[in-house]
Amino acid sequence: MSYIALWSFNSLIYYMKLTSKISFTLGIRTLLLVLMLGFAMSFLQTYIDFKNREQEVDASIASIIDATKDSASNAVWKLDEDLAALAIKGLTYFDHFSSVTIVDEIGNVLAKSEQKQIEQNNKVLSFFGIENIQNDEVILSYTKGPINSALIKPLESGMMIVSINMHSALGDVYDRAIRTFVISLAGYVFISLTLVMLYHFSLAAPLMRLASRFERVNTSSITEQSISKLKGHESDEFSKIIDSANDLLGRIASGQILLTQRSQRFRLILDTAPAIIYSLDSNAKFVFANKATASFYGYSIFDLKGKSASEIIEPVDSALMEVLQDFLEGDARQTDKVVEAYDSHKMKCVMEMSFVKFHTYDGQSILVVGNDVTKRVEAEEKIENLAYCDSLTNLPNRNKVYERLNSQEIADADSQFHVAILADLDQFKRINDTLSHSVGDQLIIKLSQRLSKEFNGIGFIARLGADEFLCHSQQLSSSRTIANKTAEELAEKLRLCINREIDIGLHRYNLSASLGVVVFKPGFETADEILQYADTAMYESKKAGRNCATLFQDKMATDAAELLKLERDISSAIFNDEFFFVLQPLISSETMEVTSAEALIRWNRNDKIVPPDDFIPFLEESALIVDVGDKMLNKVCELLANLKERGLLADRFKVAVNISGKQLSEMSFIDKVTNILRKHQVSGHHLEFEITESVALDNMKDTIAKILELKKVGISFSLDDFGTGYSSLSHLKDLPVDKLKIDRSFINDINVDIQDENLVKSIIQLADNLGIVTVAEGVETKQQVNWLKENGSMLLQGYYFSRPILPDAFIAKYLELDSEVVDLTNS
Ligand code: C2E
Ligand code: CA
Ligand code: CA
Repeated sequence: MSYIALWSFNSLIYYMKLTSKISFTLGIRTLLLVLMLGFAMSFLQTYIDFKNREQEVDASIASIIDATKDSASNAVWKLDEDLAALAIKGLTYFDHFSSVTIVDEIGNVLAKSEQKQIEQNNKVLSFFGIENIQNDEVILSYTKGPINSALIKPLESGMMIVSINMHSALGDVYDRAIRTFVISLAGYVFISLTLVMLYHFSLAAPLMRLASRFERVNTSSITEQSISKLKGHESDEFSKIIDSANDLLGRIASGQILLTQRSQRFRLILDTAPAIIYSLDSNAKFVFANKATASFYGYSIFDLKGKSASEIIEPVDSALMEVLQDFLEGDARQTDKVVEAYDSHKMKCVMEMSFVKFHTYDGQSILVVGNDVTKRVEAEEKIENLAYCDSLTNLPNRNKVYERLNSQEIADADSQFHVAILADLDQFKRINDTLSHSVGDQLIIKLSQRLSKEFNGIGFIARLGADEFLCHSQQLSSSRTIANKTAEELAEKLRLCINREIDIGLHRYNLSASLGVVVFKPGFETADEILQYADTAMYESKKAGRNCATLFQDKMATDAAELLKLERDISSAIFNDEFFFVLQPLISSETMEVTSAEALIRWNRNDKIVPPDDFIPFLEESALIVDVGDKMLNKVCELLANLKERGLLADRFKVAVNISGKQLSEMSFIDKVTNILRKHQVSGHHLEFEITESVALDNMKDTIAKILELKKVGISFSLDDFGTGYSSLSHLKDLPVDKLKIDRSFINDINVDIQDENLVKSIIQLADNLGIVTVAEGVETKQQVNWLKENGSMLLQGYYFSRPILPDAFIAKYLELDSEVVDLTNS
């Protein structure tokens, strides 16, 4: 029976342990509490019982002893053993007495009675300090005299020793206590179990059901869910918990809807963004990537997720992978970089990228945002190109040269000498005009390509203007002498490089340039100054006959400054009428008579006479040459009118005037000339216009038309400086000129250079054939005169006959009737 009870108890505990921890703990705790309380109560109850019983026993024993005491005292007083035995005889029959002994004064036993009893030694009672046998000693005394007298003193005569069997006396109480204890223990256990069951069914079991309902809620679903009420708990605390939980679920659902909406919105924004946006975890694996990233790397968004960057990025863009890895491992929290990135087709683009580190619940990640700025960079480059690059040749332009020469960085980094070589192509304008601008452009392009190729690593090549190039080379030497030498060698290399033939189509062209070389220390001179010096030196090269290089020297700087001043002074010179002309005679080789004169301009600058070579080039650069030319023409016509008036103007006498290109190309040139002639009332027959080949060829059609028009008023034309220009002879037949002036450089070499002699001979012959009069310029010696006379009939002009002289002197010398007719051949 007890076995079955134990088994079912055990099973119950096992069930509770499994299903409900709360029921089990509550049960155990209740049981322990009830047991402790019950035990304490039972203990108290038993204790009180014992005490009562003890008092009862003591009282009954005391009354029994009292009843015996007198007879026992009497027996002791009389030392009567029989009496003593009689006194105690009945006591032993009394319950709980073990033995009774009467002893006299000196301890002799007078009587002893013992009762054989069953041994009732109770260990529990002993444990609580209650001895089995309790001995009481009762003093026996004898009182002399009347009783109750205060004077009477009792006399001690012996003792009665009573042994009481206490365990037997308390035995029934003990038995009852044990019974009560066992019964109440059973009661308590029962109550406890009942309580446990109660807990289980009213608390733990509903809680379990509640828990399983909670478990069934799908928190990842965005639809609102609710938990139904527990049966039998529709209005208690469980119902309240469920209400709160449902409220919470409602809020979670709406939160989730909001979250979903937000993430959808973000996804939409990120996917429509043109930038590539992705995130990598600490192992460089893709956590997130937008559409732009996926298509950049040729994947779908889905495919990218979880893939490693080394699998996706590294094969196409190892440099970017390195940047990512460095950033992941580095300390920086954020960096912005402009990188060259490659897409899945290995197409290069320029990206502005931002890398940001952030912490997520599962560690550190990085966010990468990249904007393709290729177009912007290209546009910027284009703008930079436009500003700093020559559009025809792609070479750096003047702006770039300025920036470079003014660069403080170069100045700071370098204390050695640098060189700037300015190369100005010779006669390039003529190439453009005669061969067309497209040929000119092609020549410039080909030359630029050649220069950049050959000077790559040696110097920086730039195109300053139409036909101007600059070569800048650094770190020549810290010694000026060595630097000068290196600079000259470099200039020579440049010159030869320009001289080499250039093929365009089937044609070959030869170019040459005049070079100005400036050796300078960076930081000391501004770009303006360096270019100014180079320009000055370059002009020296032009003066020296072109196709050569001149090293700039300080003296040139003062000359250049002088020149600058000159330029400024020219404007006021026109205003102040500081220009005048001199006349140089032209002599017939046959008659040795003065047939005409050439008017040559002079400038009276602060009482110093400036020759035209020093200012005509500046006038020609500006439009001032037109004003000055007009003035000259006026002055010459004024002289002719004066001569005419004085009767000194022979019919066939002519004054030749030099006409510059700008004058001739003026639309109103013909009107101007005829107006001047009319104004001074002189015939055009007395005027000759000298034009140079380049001017004539500038716009040949227009020139020819104008010549023909002016010829109508009698003006004749001569082609000046013949032989120095381009393809001279071929155009000669088309130009309706009357005279041809062989340049003095050829006349100079007559009697010296057989080649020049032959050339002059053929020019004379050609002119003869075309019916054009030849003029030999710069005749200085008798030998030259003789040679020229031998080789044909022509006009001679030169210092041999006369230097250019003032008109008055000219008139006096050659035109006035009383003037001595000098036989020029003998002078
Ligand atoms: P050009 O037209 O060839 O003039 C001849 C130049 O040769 C003159 O120089 C003259 O003085 C110089 N000359 C004459 N005989 C000899 C000689 O035997 N030996 C040497 N060494 N030289 C001789 P000039 O007067 O200095 O004129 C230089 C140039 O300036 C002229 O060369 C002409 O191109 C230009 N020029 C002069 N006057 C005018 C002008 O009124 N208008 C324009 N546009 N140009 C002018
Ligand atoms: Ca001339
Ligand atoms: Ca000339």
